[in-house]
Amino acid sequence: MKARAPASERAQRWSQLREGRRWDLVVIGGGATGLGVALDAAARGLSVACVEANDFAKGTSSRATKLVHGGVRYLAQGNVALVREALHERATLLANAPHLAQRLPFVMPSYRVWERLFYGTGLKMYDALAGARGLGGTEFLSAQRARTLLPGVQARGLVGGVRYWDGQFDDARLALALARTAQREGAVVLNHCSAISLQRDSARVTGVTVRDNETQERAVLQAGCVINATGVWVDAVRDMDRDPSAPKRPALVAPSQGVHLVVDRKFCPGDHALLVPKTADGRVLFAVPWLGKTILGTTDTPRDDLSEEPTPFADEVAFILREAGTYLARAPTRADVRSVWVGLRPLVRPSGDDGENTKALSREHTVLVGRSGLVTVTGGKWTTYRAMAEDVLEQCMARKLLPRRPHGATVKLPLVGAALGRPLCEPPGEHLYGSEADTLRTLPGADTWLWRDGEGGLSEAMVRYAVRHEMARTLEDVLARRCRVLFLDAAQAAQLIEPVSALLSDELQRDVSKAERSAFKKLALQYRTLPD
Ligand SMILES: Cc1cc2nc3c(=O)[nH]c(=O)nc-3n(C[C@H](O)[C@H](O)[C@H](O)COP(=O)(O)OP(=O)(O)OC[C@H]3O[C@@H](n4cnc5c(N)ncnc54)[C@H](O)[C@@H]3O)c2cc1C
Repeated sequence: MKARAPASERAQRWSQLREGRRWDLVVIGGGATGLGVALDAAARGLSVACVEANDFAKGTSSRATKLVHGGVRYLAQGNVALVREALHERATLLANAPHLAQRLPFVMPSYRVWERLFYGTGLKMYDALAGARGLGGTEFLSAQRARTLLPGVQARGLVGGVRYWDGQFDDARLALALARTAQREGAVVLNHCSAISLQRDSARVTGVTVRDNETQERAVLQAGCVINATGVWVDAVRDMDRDPSAPKRPALVAPSQGVHLVVDRKFCPGDHALLVPKTADGRVLFAVPWLGKTILGTTDTPRDDLSEEPTPFADEVAFILREAGTYLARAPTRADVRSVWVGLRPLVRPSGDDGENTKALSREHTVLVGRSGLVTVTGGKWTTYRAMAEDVLEQCMARKLLPRRPHGATVKLPLVGAALGRPLCEPPGEHLYGSEADTLRTLPGADTWLWRDGEGGLSEAMVRYAVRHEMARTLEDVLARRCRVLFLDAAQAAQLIEPVSALLSDELQRDVSKAERSAFKKLALQYRTLPD
């Protein structure tokens, strides 16, 4: 079957951006925050353009621990309002994207008698706060029941445990679902398109100059409101808003990195996650079943550079392996790690005195409205992306940067593909496509597997689907974020370079260059290399 020309669909979106119209809103950044804002605004009937310099979720939004959670930890800090909001959002997300976000049981093993009572009581409060939106009741477990539910747990010294419920998700595919739903609601969303400067009319921001990174063409987007949702990179965009003669402002964001190691499920078999609330040095440790593997993490280490592909520090890897070895019966070693990936948290510094309206909310995210009208939003967590979007849009409307529209448009808005799927702890497969699995199966190669994992893996049709329907443009777009193989098994991802390149060349009607193949090979090597 002859491939259709997907390039023209992208070209159409680019020409829509170039039309010269005035947008109500231009969003810079295609991670959870930017896409959430774009979707919410489009669903309210506003005209919206959203540009992403690389691929959707290339930044922090593909590197989460994959938990949809209320934040038990904030409860311990007494931040009830934040937990209540996150629990509300947890339920909303699970309802709107059931193929990509589902409930997940956790076991907290106890090795000291007081732990079970202490944590169990806290988790009962968590249930009470969730109310009707709870995903399952907290239970106190005997040592034997804890071992049955979590067969991989270290049995020596185990006195019992607590089981509670939270959620998990496929972060990069959820970002794609947001991008596609925003398009369905009328937004124009483009990846591989950077904001390179801001348009200003005397002191006000009036638009954004963007560059299509495939063709190097530029376009000026005029906008009533510009939102900077670039995660840890917000300061670079804020700098575009600076009067060149004014002194450089102090950075808003202090990045902190979190490392995850992926190992085979045999280290933590079953369908429950393990949570250790306080390791030897007071950190939290997770072992989460995800897409056929187990994710171990994470860390919280300040770092002052802003690489797109940060690398782990040796002591972070050592910490995760050591603690996993303490709480799992079978200790994973360095040789067992299939993939290692690092995400950067945009931690917001205390507000500077630079004339901006700093609204350091008692919640995790921060919204800043600059004197020029540039709106910056950063921080928060994936789980609450929708509430953040509502909050930032509300602030824009209050300042008359956007026409007023009622909120709540996304509370009951199913995302593209919404349909009950198979558990996310199973290997990746057609279940991740939800209601679109039927369309996927109509494409050539639905039963030709390039990589087989259980009943799933990566089929030829999935690669074609990624280009035709999911805006994939590069090898990395396919192997890191449409299919998550780079995050699950980096050596396996490297083996897919040639067959996926051949299919991409066919679909995109251009050759995947040698340089692109080498760059991905290097990236896959990084994802399977641990520092000494
Ligand atoms: C280790 C770790 C684990 C986490 N785990 C969880 C979890 O389990 N559950 C949870 O709810 N939350 C979790 N979080 C938090 C969550 O991942 C983040 O809050 C969220 O992904 C932030 O999204 P963002 O859109 O603000 O940033 P990003 O995802 O980084 O998006 C910003 C985007 O802006 C783009 N960009 C930058 N400059 C430009 C430009 N000039 N033009 C156009 N685009 C540009 C970037 O390419 C990037 O894609 C975790 C975070 C970390 C670090």
